[in-house]
Amino acid sequence: MRQSRTFIPTLREVPADAEVKSHKLLLRAGFIRQNASGIYSYLPLARKVMRHVEQIVREEMDAVYGQELLMPALQLSDLWKESGRWDGYGPELMRMRDRHDREFALGPTHEEVITTLIRDELNSYKKLPITLYQIQTKFRDEKRPRFGLLRGREFIMKDAYSFHASSASLDETYQAMYEAYKRIFTRCGLDFRPVIADSGEMGGKDTHEFMALSEVGEDTICFSSEGEYAANIEMAEVNTTYSRPDDVAKTPLQLVQGEPGQDLHAFATAQNVTVEQTVYGEAWLVDGKPVLLLLRGDHELNDVKLKLLFPDVARRPLTDQEVQDTFGVKRSFVGPLELPEEVQVFADLAVGGVADGVTLCNQASQFAVHFEPMRDCKIEQYADIRFVKEGDPSPNGMGTISFAKGIEVGQVFKLGTRYSETMNAVFLDENGRTQPLLMGCYGIGISRVVSAIAEQYADENGLVWPKQVAPYQVHLLCLNIKQEAQKALAEELHDVFTKAGIDVLYDDRPERAGVKFADSDLIGLPLRITVGKKAEQAIVEWKERATGDAKEVAVHELLGEVQQFLSPTGRG
Ligand code: ATP
Ligand code: MG
Repeated sequence: MRQSRTFIPTLREVPADAEVKSHKLLLRAGFIRQNASGIYSYLPLARKVMRHVEQIVREEMDAVYGQELLMPALQLSDLWKESGRWDGYGPELMRMRDRHDREFALGPTHEEVITTLIRDELNSYKKLPITLYQIQTKFRDEKRPRFGLLRGREFIMKDAYSFHASSASLDETYQAMYEAYKRIFTRCGLDFRPVIADSGEMGGKDTHEFMALSEVGEDTICFSSEGEYAANIEMAEVNTTYSRPDDVAKTPLQLVQGEPGQDLHAFATAQNVTVEQTVYGEAWLVDGKPVLLLLRGDHELNDVKLKLLFPDVARRPLTDQEVQDTFGVKRSFVGPLELPEEVQVFADLAVGGVADGVTLCNQASQFAVHFEPMRDCKIEQYADIRFVKEGDPSPNGMGTISFAKGIEVGQVFKLGTRYSETMNAVFLDENGRTQPLLMGCYGIGISRVVSAIAEQYADENGLVWPKQVAPYQVHLLCLNIKQEAQKALAEELHDVFTKAGIDVLYDDRPERAGVKFADSDLIGLPLRITVGKKAEQAIVEWKERATGDAKEVAVHELLGEVQQFLSPTGRG
């Protein structure tokens, strides 16, 4: 392809509103342009990268018996009402009306559409299992669209759905998908981790997210210094046994007036008490009743773990006003002592290890010292309700926990009968009995993957595409297009490469050499071949984008070397 005929609007300036590397570079290198917040045009270079990612995804989905289909983006509200998500999905669901005043959603995902499709067309166990997928634009009115393609309001997703007659069959497909996802992200060149994830309020149990490791990731992943264990931070269990000294302190609990403005932390510091000896409370409403959750001063409440402690009931933090009405003080003075009758107390496991501690007593600026949780207050139950910390023992029993940031590029999910039961999608089993279909769903953010690759593969000069997904394989530069010998050789090489099936971008523009080199680094194709001063001697310059390795190559050896470099086992 002649660069003079392409649409690659590169920018010299760094766009002011772009915060992260991939967003800046994709704008500067002419891959994307924003239309509205979280809404982008994918220009030809981005479209090519995306096609390569899609190709990898299609090959791997087909290999696990996935069949591609395409479902409508416009979805009748009736479907969403049937599943209960018209209200449940909240403001992220883009809603609209047609000329007959019928309500529609712009699909953020397709469980409803596919469940009704299968419900109406498939009714026997003989047709199961079945796996279907599509690659399509999705719409989500995200609260904070940002980081370019990483969190868009309109984005491209591969979503697959599987249907099963038995949980063994669902397990099998889930595992096959899990392996296919590992192959997909490996082939895309991503440094990633599959992690144990939270099933959220979506129902279903088993789920893994695939996280591309990156500083700009919005999720925190915990992984073990030994073994395979990796989980989203909210899923990582605490694996510490807290014991407390046998000789319970004899010193009685004592209330102390703090300095004005002092909080628990400041008070403890002034008293030379370590943060590990302090205990604070979080006030929640669980099943309509106020509950106090006790935690050690250096620990943070993990609300996902509250689901295990209080399954199937509504729970939320108390509002400031509710805290004041229930406890008679501001939130920062809420504690386990002198509590109103109706408040039940639950404590994190670590609180059980606190001895001679400091805590709060529901009186402004008052603190309690020589606090012994077991002795001084009534605790209904001790449970794991905190986030793990770096250095905690790993849940797999080996090594310790470290943290990393990740971008969620994909998720596999066992939905079970969440949709088939609410939408009455059933089949007849071998004994002629009616059973709800079992379901799995499997998503990959195609446009997010493109950004995640850009985030992982870039340097100070621009993008550095891995060859499997690069928009073109080779960048051929003619330094001075007005110079006959250079032009003739460059045209010839363009021809040779094209005929050999190599996807080449040929910079034939009447630009200065400096501009061509800068644009070439910015766009980041794996290999650059420059036709310059030595054209008459039939010598060109070879430069690899990733390593910077450069050399001169004689023209008669060039094609062979390029093919070798681009081959799956080549260095590129
Ligand atoms: P997130 O937690 O990042 O909002 P999600 O868990 O809601 O994502 P899923 O419903 O699991 O997302 O969607 C499947 C995949 O689609 C995700 O793994 C992610 O790669 C991609 N994706 C989700 N939301 C967006 C978005 N706003 N922009 C780009 N890609 C997205
Ligand atoms: Mg997800």
